[in-house]
Amino acid sequence: MHDPNCIFCKIVLGQIPSRKAYEDEEVLAFHDIHPIAPVHVLVIPKQHIATLAEVGEAHQAVLGRMLLVAPRIAREQGSDDGFRVIMNTGRIGRQEVLHLHMHVLGGKEPLGAMLPRPRQ
Ligand code: AMP
Ligand code: ZN
Repeated sequence: MHDPNCIFCKIVLGQIPSRKAYEDEEVLAFHDIHPIAPVHVLVIPKQHIATLAEVGEAHQAVLGRMLLVAPRIAREQGSDDGFRVIMNTGRIGRQEVLHLHMHVLGGKEPLGAMLPRPRQ
């Protein structure tokens, strides 16, 4: 259920403080410690799942729940005209924390480009 060496599991267990934005039985959302947008919240499953590359059928419900709560969190944080979700996955996705998480990014103004376009 939890990995004792995982920073996000420690947040779930209250062993590391976080600024909570939302919580229910299955998921927790808290403000990113180094925000890159006016709204930058991380939504995580309470159970330890390392990466989106490793999910199975058993995770369907919690993955759905993460997407379901995203618009509500974005709205509550003041991003009321849209937002972006990002799930960095594995080496190629440059995932740094190996506890599955969804970035919810937004604010009052449109965000920057998703990725810079390669030169043609
Ligand atoms: P990623 O590159 O998708 O793995 O992003 C991990 C994110 O977790 C980064 O945006 C970090 O700023 C954020 N982060 C790391 N430690 C904490 C923490 N203790 N509380 C809140 N956010 C954190
Ligand atoms: Zn974990």
